[in-house]
Amino acid sequence: MNYNTPVIQLKGVGEKTAKVFEKLGVKTIGDLIRFYPRDYEKFEEVIPLAEIKKGEICAVRVRIVSSVTVRKIRNLTILNAVASDGTGKIKLTFFNMPFLRNVLKTGGVYLLRGLVQEKDGIPVMEQPKLFKEEEYQKLLETVQPRYPLSAGITNQAITKAVRQALSNCELDHEFLPDNILASQKLMDREEAVHNLHFPKDFDTLIDARKRMVFEEFFLFILGLRKEKEQNEVVDSKFPYVETAQIYRFLERLPFQLTNAQKKVWNEIEEDLQGRKLMNRLVQGDVGSGKTMIAILALLMTVSNGYQGAMMAPTEVLAKQHFDSISEMNEKYGMGMHPVLLIGAMTAKEKREAYALIAEGKADVIIGTHALIQEKVVYKKLALVITDEQHRFGVKQRETLAEKGDMPHVLVMSATPIPRTLAIILYGDLKVSVIDELPAERKPIKNCVVDTSYREKAYRFIEKEVAAGRQVYVICPMVEEAETDSDDPSMVNVENVIGYTEKLKEVLSPSIQIAYLHGKMKSSLKNEIMEAFKNKNIDVLVSTTVIEVGINVPNATVMMVENAERFGLAQLHQLRGRVGRGEHQSYCIFVSSSDKKETMERLEILNKSNDGFKIAEEDLKMRGPGDLFGIRQSGEFAFKLGDIYNDAVLLKEAGSCVDKLLSEDTFLEKKENERLKAYLEKESWNPVDFRTI
Ligand code: ADP
Ligand code: MG
Repeated sequence: MNYNTPVIQLKGVGEKTAKVFEKLGVKTIGDLIRFYPRDYEKFEEVIPLAEIKKGEICAVRVRIVSSVTVRKIRNLTILNAVASDGTGKIKLTFFNMPFLRNVLKTGGVYLLRGLVQEKDGIPVMEQPKLFKEEEYQKLLETVQPRYPLSAGITNQAITKAVRQALSNCELDHEFLPDNILASQKLMDREEAVHNLHFPKDFDTLIDARKRMVFEEFFLFILGLRKEKEQNEVVDSKFPYVETAQIYRFLERLPFQLTNAQKKVWNEIEEDLQGRKLMNRLVQGDVGSGKTMIAILALLMTVSNGYQGAMMAPTEVLAKQHFDSISEMNEKYGMGMHPVLLIGAMTAKEKREAYALIAEGKADVIIGTHALIQEKVVYKKLALVITDEQHRFGVKQRETLAEKGDMPHVLVMSATPIPRTLAIILYGDLKVSVIDELPAERKPIKNCVVDTSYREKAYRFIEKEVAAGRQVYVICPMVEEAETDSDDPSMVNVENVIGYTEKLKEVLSPSIQIAYLHGKMKSSLKNEIMEAFKNKNIDVLVSTTVIEVGINVPNATVMMVENAERFGLAQLHQLRGRVGRGEHQSYCIFVSSSDKKETMERLEILNKSNDGFKIAEEDLKMRGPGDLFGIRQSGEFAFKLGDIYNDAVLLKEAGSCVDKLLSEDTFLEKKENERLKAYLEKESWNPVDFRTI
């Protein structure tokens, strides 16, 4: 058994399970070994009721001091009891577990573990798990992995498969140089991989994770340095000249560019007219007007007689860009010939688009990564723009270079990255920052509330819809987690489908409600976004798929459920979906957690509308112990590392790479032999880390 063996070769993994694994991105044993737990369960010491805290998962040993009652409401069976341990009382509630009536008896003593909540001033545990004493004592000494799940597979089944894989497959040996292992106090690689799945104890887990996060960052930065070298030597095959079209367009625009936009545009113009290929990142907070910069660059490309492509991370976003660029093109007589290229188009539509592109009749091509697929042949592609989270790496460049000459690259990102980290992460790019919002924007009004505020929020939503506005509601999950219902951390987590049903009951029936999530077919997603844009939908319930780039200026309310489960940077992006038009906009962050720290963290959003500041504050509030905190940024597809939470490690990895390359640029020294061998064996493309 090796890294390339298909998972179906494992005992207990049949065709059906293999299919589910594939959905989770796991095809081979190697994939499985790199399929890290999303979380770990550490069992707590049993504590007296006097010491439990709301919002936390606790284990208690209690006696039932009331009668055990069972009620039926529609198809829900609810079992209730009150328990005590002499130091306090707690209410227990179980749903749809009628068999417990024969287990739980008045006067009996039970060991229970669950999330502590408070209802009407009384502590409550809903759906706690019942344990036998010996069983719990054993669990106390372990840290159990919790893997990302999908319908059709349990955590237990994944655990078993991983165990088998680890004991039958020879793992990659250590390849980091000894001096780095020593200076960073890193665990040996094989030991780290084992402990990431099955940690000996919590401290070992922290060390194991540190080792693997360091590796991710290290390889990534090493790749960046390589890429930087490659980029610096590339001469431009597409020298641009100034054109009158740009001036004409800017004159016709109903607004002035902001000073920040002007500055950034100047930098881009200079790049495009220069002798070297452009490789530039434009960073700007949500709503700062990055699209306008992209449009200027495309117009300049077209007026120089070349083709420009713009790549978006989702089809919805690509379609949106296409629509708004086409509209401007007409309105301001820009003379461009835009064409859309997305997966949802029919084969015939695609063929037509390919033909237009190949003949050069289409000069602005907008789409998803389909833009760089083999079938697309460009006539004279001079510029590629990637919008929001879409990294353009060496691999993609090479694919395009095979079809023609290397184009200029412009990357747009709204992820607010503090300067110190940006230098490391974007070392291969020149960076422009749009650090100013268009002036006439009304600041968004924010509030951070608990779930008791919902009623008020619903009435407010009705009022806004009555005034002709539209609303987003965000939930963390797509549907109710079936297979994972024994996970106490999943209590009270809202899901898009269930929440939509609920809203249909509590909101006025005249309000049109629909939902959207990432698992839907993209043609359906497009339809729903289209309907929302055309005001045929008033309230859109969605997962964070709408986080990126969506521009519906008539939407004025953003309500985020379970705000505690999102990173601040992500919440800030979500907030950026409103406040894009002339109307006053509102953001309601609903927290289901009673923890004090959570509320404090969310309050940061209340105080600031500046994405960069928020990211920095969030960073400051985190301690080194917050290793398994919320992932902040989807832009960097690290498996384990998070650029915000692991910022310190990121910097360390950066200086290790710099030191290594300054002492041994071509990795020729003996002590770096195994690193070199590993890189060659993997023929690994480091920039993949930044590509979705
Ligand atoms: P983002 O940076 O989030 O991609 P967009 O480019 O989508 O922002 O711009 C948000 C909105 O602001 C758009 O409706 C756009 O037309 C408008 N806009 C862009 N630049 C300006 C400006 N200089 N003055 C006024 N409005 C602008
Ligand atoms: Mg945008």
